Amino acid sequence: MAQIVTRIAPSPTGYMHVGTARTALFNWLFARANGGKFLLRIEDTDRERSTPEATEAILQGMTWLGLDWDGEAVSQFAQKDRHAEVAHEMLARGTAYKCFSTQEEIATYRAEQEAAGASYAVFQSPWRDADPATHPDQPFAIRMMAPRTGETVIDDVVQGKVTFRNDQLDDMIVLRSDGTPTYMLAVVVDDHDMGVTHVIRGDDHLSNAARQTMVYEAMGWDIPVWAHIPLIHGPDGKKLSKRHGATAVGDYQAQGYPSAGMRNYLTRLGWAHADAELFTTQQALEMFSLEGIGRSPARLDFKKLESTCGWHIAHGEDAALLHEIEGYLAAAGLPALRDDQRAGLAKALYCVKERAKTFVELIEKAHFVLTSRPIVADEAALKHLDPVSRGILNELTPRLQNVSWTKDALEAFLTEVCATHGIGFGKLAAPLRTALAGKTATPSVYDMMLVIGQDETIARLSDVVG
Ligand code: GLU
Repeated sequence: MAQIVTRIAPSPTGYMHVGTARTALFNWLFARANGGKFLLRIEDTDRERSTPEATEAILQGMTWLGLDWDGEAVSQFAQKDRHAEVAHEMLARGTAYKCFSTQEEIATYRAEQEAAGASYAVFQSPWRDADPATHPDQPFAIRMMAPRTGETVIDDVVQGKVTFRNDQLDDMIVLRSDGTPTYMLAVVVDDHDMGVTHVIRGDDHLSNAARQTMVYEAMGWDIPVWAHIPLIHGPDGKKLSKRHGATAVGDYQAQGYPSAGMRNYLTRLGWAHADAELFTTQQALEMFSLEGIGRSPARLDFKKLESTCGWHIAHGEDAALLHEIEGYLAAAGLPALRDDQRAGLAKALYCVKERAKTFVELIEKAHFVLTSRPIVADEAALKHLDPVSRGILNELTPRLQNVSWTKDALEAFLTEVCATHGIGFGKLAAPLRTALAGKTATPSVYDMMLVIGQDETIARLSDVVG
């Protein structure tokens, strides 16, 4: 079989939608799993709505998700001459014709059909069968000579065979009278020219596939394999919207989801393989196939996204996590790490990555290495610094000088302090957290003590007991 070539073809008209990211991911997985190519085309033909910022958001979203594309991103607008050339070639082949009908004539036609009770009025141009000798010397649109009878069948990997009645598909315009190509033409020409073998995209494009098939046939080109994937819905089963939470890929980065977790979660969103839930990208590549894509819309489940992300943070490699945390801070508009903070975080990572579902939680837990003396405690943490606990801290602090700085020795020492005062460990741990971190959600007191070291521990405790 020829090399597999897939693509993602987003329109740069806003932010990058999470559904586009999932479509890109499926295309990427399918290409990479099969030694194929994955291409990126920016569908910027709509000059009014396309913006460089939106293109940038797409490139950033793809990069964040680790979806590398082959070669340069292609601008659809830059191919406009080629689109026009193909439209004229269709004319020459007799699979398209010049249509001189004006907007008003088309509107009148539709109004008449409606008045006559037609529920669906497909415009039938009088120029379809006109003798070229009668053509006026006026601008014209180029329309497809679409079959008027019979059916067009889309054989879709996900949806199965889907049949469209040809009498419901009009002789669509491929080149407007101002010489600009329509979306329907541009997509097919680009996919053909880029050698795309598999079109994997949202099922909102399913009926476009029928129209696009006609363009392939009109040019005698090979039709790609179609795979139209159901869209992503919100947790309530309704079409995903801002009301449900984040819809832009960039929001997920800014909310502290790690890209590996996001990739895992999005892979499982509408695709399944046996009972695989948590997996690395390498494992996803080994399992991925188009046959695993389901037919019903996937529901976004933020709880599952979080637990998936938690697993990836816990299992993430430290250097990669640190790098990604810096990306998160920038995306969230938070201050960048100073060198001492970066070093502290690197030391603390083993104990803060365990139960953090997002980088927001991780950073919260790592506060004890990101802050410096004097530690400013939050209100909840301050409550644990009552006179009794202060007294106990006061007594134990100088004794820490003589404790050897290992987990076992610290544990034996603090257990003994608790026994002496007849209190449970929790009663001692709470004020220690306040002194060491100024917060209630922290790693274990032992881990904090080991990470910041003996001198700093004693200094922080001394600050509190005064
Ligand atoms: N530009 C289209 C979109 O953003 C995608 C077209 C396609 O995948 O064929 O929805």
